[in-house]
Amino acid sequence: MSKSGSLELPICVSCKYPILPLEKGVNFPCPNCGYMLWRDKRCRKLATSYKCPNCGFEGP
Ligand SMILES: [Zn+2]
Ligand SMILES: [Zn+2]
Repeated sequence: MSKSGSLELPICVSCKYPILPLEKGVNFPCPNCGYMLWRDKRCRKLATSYKCPNCGFEGP
């Protein structure tokens, strides 16, 4: 069950775009379940709301 290309990029939890290594995204645990969330620099600056894909928690 190997996918082609094993490089897994973190996905921005706000805009759903992959965060490139050079983009310097930030990661933080979900306040509700501890699931590791990623957000890119742009969404962080704009303080875009996010929704945890694991538990559905929504936060600023
Ligand atoms: Zn984003
Ligand atoms: Zn969560």
